[in-house]
Order: sequence, then C-alpha cells, then structure tokens
Amino acid sequence: MKKFARYEKQILFKPIGLEGQKRLLKSRAAIVGMGALGTSIANHLVRSGIGYIRIIDHDYVELTNLQRQLLYDEEDAEGRLPKVFAAERKLSKINSTVKVEPVFTDLNRENAEELLAGFDVILDGTDNFPTRYLINEASIKLGIPWIYGGVVSARGITAVIIPGKTPCLRCLFPDMNNVPTETADTAGIVSPITAIIGSLEATGALKLLTGAEVSPYLEQVDIWSDSFMQMDISKGKNPDCPVCVHHQFEFLGS
Ligand SMILES: [Zn+2]
Repeated sequence: MKKFARYEKQILFKPIGLEGQKRLLKSRAAIVGMGALGTSIANHLVRSGIGYIRIIDHDYVELTNLQRQLLYDEEDAEGRLPKVFAAERKLSKINSTVKVEPVFTDLNRENAEELLAGFDVILDGTDNFPTRYLINEASIKLGIPWIYGGVVSARGITAVIIPGKTPCLRCLFPDMNNVPTETADTAGIVSPITAIIGSLEATGALKLLTGAEVSPYLEQVDIWSDSFMQMDISKGKNPDCPVCVHHQFEFLGS
C-alpha cells in the first residue's frame, strides 16, 4: 500500500514489521526541548512514521546551535526563528504524512500536565534537572513512560523510565542538590554524542511504541575516551521514593 511505501525498509526489519508500523502511525510522542537531542530525536521519529509528535521549546535558533542541532540552518539563525517553528517546517518536508505540532513555550509546573497528557511516550531533549524532575513527576502522575537523556562535552546518558515497572528518575537521582549541573554552555559539547544519545532515545521510543521488550539499563557513553557502560537499574527502585511510591509531586506542585 502506498501509505506504507516510505517505511519499506523499516517494515522489512522483523521486530517491527507491518503490525509495528501500523502501531507507530497511531502513536503520539511528545519531545521536550528542541536543541541537539530534541532535533536528533524528532528527525528519527518523523522519518519512522510516529503519527503525531508534539515538540515543545521556547528558544530561538542561533548561529552557535548549528554545530550540532541538525534540523536548523543559517537562514533560521539569521531570522532568529523559534526552534519549534524552524523544526516543524523542516520536519514537514521530510515526512508530510505525520503531524508535527509546535508548541512555543517552556515546560513549567503550570503547563506540564496539560502539555504531556494523552501521549504514549515523552522524550527528554532538555539540558537541566529541574525540568527532568518535572517531566518525571508528570510521567508518574499521568502513567506515561518517558525516556531520560542528557549530553555534555563528549559524554551522554540515557534510560527508559516506565511508571510502575522501572525505577523513576528520583529513584536514580534522589538528592536534588547533588545532580550534574554542567551544560553545553559551561563545559562545551561535541556534535556526535548528541546524535548517539538522541538515537538511543528514539530507539527506546520505537521499542516502547511497538510493544517490544525494553532493556533495564542506564546507558553511559563517553565518546572521547571510548567508554560505553551499562548499569542494570532493574533493582534500583527506592521503596520510599517520594515520587513513584508516595506520589508527592513537588515540582508539579500538586
Ligand atoms: Zn521513584
């Protein structure tokens, strides 16, 4: 069928197949942050045929973004276009048969639940822990899996968080005052690590959305020292976690 022609090679990949492709086309994904990670994730999800993708960001394209934020070009930077609109324009040229919805705002405690409700998966394209704790609480409250990802310098980290099944972000990083604070603005960043972690996050989404088994690993990569580490987090749930056990949502404020 013509509708599936563009996904021919993905359908040939047996773990997805035609049934998986149909599931992807009916799926809804929300991406928070459209910097290097978000553009990499969106690029994969749009090409893979995720039917509905909401992209959320409040920033404008700048010249210094072009080194690693794959959907933007010099024209976007000269026009200081909001990232979500520049991304939507590019993504709709890549695959006009899926719906990309740009939302030009930051994710905050007032809008998080409303902006993330009704999605099948939430993907982390942010660069800070307060927003991740907010996504984590919305995920637990709404019962939606999310995929944590972070990159800085040549290092990256990612894990799939499934409410009721895996530890949540607060289980993994219980001390909010002792989380990594470096960002690309302070420590710099090389482009390939963002593509690697963005690709791992997109893979996690494809597996979740097609019903495949998701590995219980926190993946840590340093491409400058050629270090690839997996940490099994399947037993990492904190039995006293304020978020996924006691449902106290201090970042959401409810
Ligand atoms: Zn937890």
